Amino acid sequence: MTKKCIQCGKHVQASVPVYKRGTVCGTEEDYSKQVICNTCLKSSEEYAYCCCCGEEGAYSTKDMLTDEFSWYCKEHIDESSFEEEEESGWRSYISYIND
Ligand SMILES: [Zn+2]
Ligand SMILES: [Zn+2]
Repeated sequence: MTKKCIQCGKHVQASVPVYKRGTVCGTEEDYSKQVICNTCLKSSEEYAYCCCCGEEGAYSTKDMLTDEFSWYCKEHIDESSFEEEEESGWRSYISYIND
């Protein structure tokens, strides 16, 4: 059974489950009904893997933070290479994406 990619709308066989909005450190139980195909996910600015959670599912980037190299879910942001002094940068980014 194929599912429809949330971005390109094509029916795809190989797809990645998309976590529900607000998911942090998602598991299978946090999957929404939506999926994204690998091709879209690679170029998507709206969905991404958490580099710590692995490739089980994709998060909405609105629920994530990035250090410009990788995306992190909010649970794993502590694992990022960001230094404490740059925390204010995070905050402004968060308020930016919430606008
Ligand atoms: Zn797609
Ligand atoms: Zn994570």
